Amino acid sequence: MGEFELIRHYFMPLARSLGSHSVLVGPGDDCAIQRIPAGSDLVFSIDTLVEGVHFPLNYRPDYLGWRALAVAASDLAAMGADPACFTLALTLPEVDECWLRDFAFGLGKAAEAFGLVLAGGDTTRGPLALSLQVHGLVPQSTGIRRSGAGPGDLVVVSGTLGDAGAALEYLDVQNPSADQAFVLERYHHPEPKLKLGAALRNLATAAIDVSDGLLADLGHILEASSVGANIERSRLPVSPALNRLTGSAAGDFALHSGDDYELCLTIPEANWAIVPSSLKQQLTVIGVIESEQGLRLDGAAVVSESEAVGFDHFRRIS
Ligand code: ADP
Ligand code: MG
Repeated sequence: MGEFELIRHYFMPLARSLGSHSVLVGPGDDCAIQRIPAGSDLVFSIDTLVEGVHFPLNYRPDYLGWRALAVAASDLAAMGADPACFTLALTLPEVDECWLRDFAFGLGKAAEAFGLVLAGGDTTRGPLALSLQVHGLVPQSTGIRRSGAGPGDLVVVSGTLGDAGAALEYLDVQNPSADQAFVLERYHHPEPKLKLGAALRNLATAAIDVSDGLLADLGHILEASSVGANIERSRLPVSPALNRLTGSAAGDFALHSGDDYELCLTIPEANWAIVPSSLKQQLTVIGVIESEQGLRLDGAAVVSESEAVGFDHFRRIS
């Protein structure tokens, strides 16, 4: 199977919904063309996943397809962007049709679930790696940045934290318990909070997705906004499964472990008061932004730098 046949067979079907979409030209030409509606800003980001670094060796290809797009789309959610389209640069060691079929299946399910159509890509031979560029749209000047947090804003997170990090222990378990299966599902099939992010774009002052761990990611907001925060450990949202699996360590997973792809946002109290209750159900207030810089847990400074760093590739290997 040649490169073009491969693209036509496995990836063109993911462009099928182009008809009703802002993508005027999809895969098959030299470039894709996306029409940007008047009054919108284009919001875009690229993410690279390398086998053995960002996902395990011999990781299930259907899971990889979902996870790769979810991770990329999560950045759109953090900006409050409505999803539009994506491109895929795929580096493959060989043409393995079973692998490609399963990968395209997982990717296609995610594309449909998130409302992202495939607009183009690149296919090359080499060690397994993929880069996905995602495009989203926001009404002009409404993209949520990291830099807008102000003293008094509530620090809010979506969903529960720590599940995906706990799942790393169980990746090789043959017959996982119900609780293990729950956290494993959170690792394998993260759900980017696209609707939530978009719904909060006029209410939140700053946002980030929790990919590296809450303390590390909130730290990025604090730095960009030149503010500090106090977080209350007892308020951290933790799933019953994580509580049962890790006991008193659940809070540490919630603070330090990544891969959950929930959102961490800052919202002024006046805006919090008008957040619709359907959204509040998905959110937990965990602390408050303060003018004094630095991150505090129950009033005590988070001292050790490594505690707030989370996952940093270059730190790990040095
Ligand atoms: P060019 O040589 O002009 O850069 P390519 O040969 O790289 O074009 O790609 C041909 C067409 O196939 C392009 O429209 C490109 O977007 C599309 N394409 C290549 N790889 C993929 C892929 N993995 N997924 C989707 N579309 C792809
Ligand atoms: Mg060309």
